[in-house]
Amino acid sequence: MKSTEIDLHKELKKYFGFNKFKGLQEGVVKSIITGQNTFVIMPTGGGKSLCYQLPALVLDGTAIVVSPLIALMKNQVDAIRSLSSEQGIAHVLNSSLTKTEVNQVKSDITNGITKLLYVAPESLTKEEYVTFLRGVKLSFVAIDEAHCISEWGHDFRPEYRNLRSIIKQLGDVPVIGLTATATPKVQEDILKNLDMSDANVFKASFNRPNLYYEVRPKAKTVESDIIRFIRQHKGKSGVIYCLSRKKVEEIAQVLQVNGISAVPYHAGLDAKTRAKHQDMFLMEDVDVVVATIAFGMGIDKPDVRFVIHHDIPKSLESYYQETGRAGRDGGEGHCLAYYSYKDIEKLEKFMSGKPVAEQEIGFALLQEVVAYAETSMSRRKFLLHYFGEEFDDVNGEGADMDDNVRNPKKKSEAKDQVVI
Ligand code: ADP
Ligand code: MG
Repeated sequence: MKSTEIDLHKELKKYFGFNKFKGLQEGVVKSIITGQNTFVIMPTGGGKSLCYQLPALVLDGTAIVVSPLIALMKNQVDAIRSLSSEQGIAHVLNSSLTKTEVNQVKSDITNGITKLLYVAPESLTKEEYVTFLRGVKLSFVAIDEAHCISEWGHDFRPEYRNLRSIIKQLGDVPVIGLTATATPKVQEDILKNLDMSDANVFKASFNRPNLYYEVRPKAKTVESDIIRFIRQHKGKSGVIYCLSRKKVEEIAQVLQVNGISAVPYHAGLDAKTRAKHQDMFLMEDVDVVVATIAFGMGIDKPDVRFVIHHDIPKSLESYYQETGRAGRDGGEGHCLAYYSYKDIEKLEKFMSGKPVAEQEIGFALLQEVVAYAETSMSRRKFLLHYFGEEFDDVNGEGADMDDNVRNPKKKSEAKDQVVI
């Protein structure tokens, strides 16, 4: 189909059953189907997949989708296949396929059946695949989780660095980068590395007006403070993040002893236990999950009412991602972080074994966390500024939703002493 002849709303309904585009999707889809390089920055849950899936389905040729996680690719392929009677409409190409399976994928692509081909970045470096893909009709290359290109992102993957040179070998195909990491530094890196300074850039707002941000000093009483907080939110779902597996176990136990239904979740538990605990949380058999950062990827529970950080995370991106799991349904979402400078020193110590360049980046990111924790300005304004977004802390949506705005720190503390 020619891009000008496509009725996008009709195709949206036909393939996905949706009546409306979400946020900036329509503009992104138009940019892609008219063959332009496109860069999409949207928070998690913003609907980035559809931005490339719909164009891929309506354009001639095959779209290559680069994604870092095999499990995620499989999910997406299954979802796309369920929209169609044609199994070959989407495929994953990776090292686990047998020779016969690879041949099937190749023949579906050559016959114009395959609209979406998901590949891991390391598979794309394979000479055999590159040679094959050079000879077929491609619609575009989409790079999901594009922040993996940047050392300033939270998930740097060296193999993402080779993507541009491989894409160049594939011929003149448009490139689409997508990420939920909004810092200007990461964005710059992505555009530079993918050599797409000409891209149409679509950036959604990262403001989550229904989330309440609060930081409390971390004292010896932190555990009883958390227990009190949970009791005040009786029967509501929440996540408590800790830095170490040991701390996760400890806190989960303290909560249980105090009559709060809580389970631990970390990578040290076997897969069966992890799955069980996750399900218990999703099914509301327990109120609270105490977890390391291993918990959360792809968790889609709409009514998480609080996210507590027992330990402050190592970057504001991580903090934003983790707190972003609260209030997905637009309802209440309380984000409480406990902060002590000692924890920062601990994180610095963890980094000291790493290569110097990595350390420097790590320290710089940590300094931003410190500044966030210690600021007396609107926390929302601070966070959004960090993501390159100006926030009006008087009239902006959610302007009064943080501790600093509700209870301004007394500027007059020094003066009070004089008066007394
Ligand atoms: P992201 O990759 O940005 O985190 P996803 O692509 O996983 O987000 O989409 C998040 C959710 O939004 C999915 O459940 C998806 O079905 C839904 N969604 C996407 N586009 C629309 C739309 N136009 N209308 C309604 N729901 C949508
Ligand atoms: Mg996504």
